[in-house]
Amino acid sequence: MEKEPHNRVRNILLGVIGLLLLILGIVIGLIIAGVISDRPLISESNGAETESMAAADSDETKADTDEPAETDTETAGQSSAEAQSSTEAQSSTEAQSDTAAQEDPIRIVLDPGHDDYCSRNHPDLGVNEQDLNLKIALACKAELETYEGVEVFLTREDGSCPDNGQGSDDVTGRTAYAASVDADLFVSLHNNATGLGYPSEANGAEVYITVYSKFTDESRKLGESILSELTSQVDLANRGVLTRVKAEKGYYDDGNVKDWYYLISTCIDQGFPGIIIEHAFMDNPHDNEILKDDSQLEAMGIADATGIARYYGLEKKSAQ
Ligand SMILES: [Zn+2]
Repeated sequence: MEKEPHNRVRNILLGVIGLLLLILGIVIGLIIAGVISDRPLISESNGAETESMAAADSDETKADTDEPAETDTETAGQSSAEAQSSTEAQSSTEAQSDTAAQEDPIRIVLDPGHDDYCSRNHPDLGVNEQDLNLKIALACKAELETYEGVEVFLTREDGSCPDNGQGSDDVTGRTAYAASVDADLFVSLHNNATGLGYPSEANGAEVYITVYSKFTDESRKLGESILSELTSQVDLANRGVLTRVKAEKGYYDDGNVKDWYYLISTCIDQGFPGIIIEHAFMDNPHDNEILKDDSQLEAMGIADATGIARYYGLEKKSAQ
């Protein structure tokens, strides 16, 4: 019986210790659980970002919220959403302006004058006007396509006739093609001859523009820009920007007598300006030598393109 009280005390002590251990275990368990459950809320990288963004974006969010952890999460969500949407807005704006340039480029139709059917062959001068015009046009197109925001079309890429054999004086197939591609500008490329035979004194480059008042001033600026390039890049005289009218053709709706050249007047009839560049005189000895040099024909095409690009304020495509 003596042992009984001892045992009872020991049992009570063991019970108390066990209870303490149990409580301790529960406390440790809760602490561990707390640490683990805190982890996603602390989330180092988000937290750091949130801190600066929240400070910058919105102090209200912090003040209104009792639970900083939640606030941080919400703000993080908000900020990253804002960041995302602003990034999207930025890139979609960039995409839009890119697309705008692609969707609404300046549409230029280059028209190499004449062809194998409506021929301007001058065997006595050692040149074929249709071939000279085509070489210049191809160089002009290649150079223009190094610029942003422009789309270039050719009425012919070889000796074939864009006018479907409608006769050597008919040029309406060329301007009809320009209308069909919704041209902003029609540029007919030619070379000159006095018709007086070799050797003629007349030499140099000239540009014919319309007298139709809506387009005259701008066409003049364009013509001057082209001639400035042509006569500085190639050894050609500047004969200026010219107009020529033909009373028999009647009047435009602005009351002006129609342009002499059908290439120009049929453009006006269809709502866009047309110009004619006469690069050089085939029957002038000085110009004739230049026209027999393919590198000079290429230089003329590049000069035409540069003059057009400068007039429109086009920028070169960035190197890829
Ligand atoms: Zn011609």
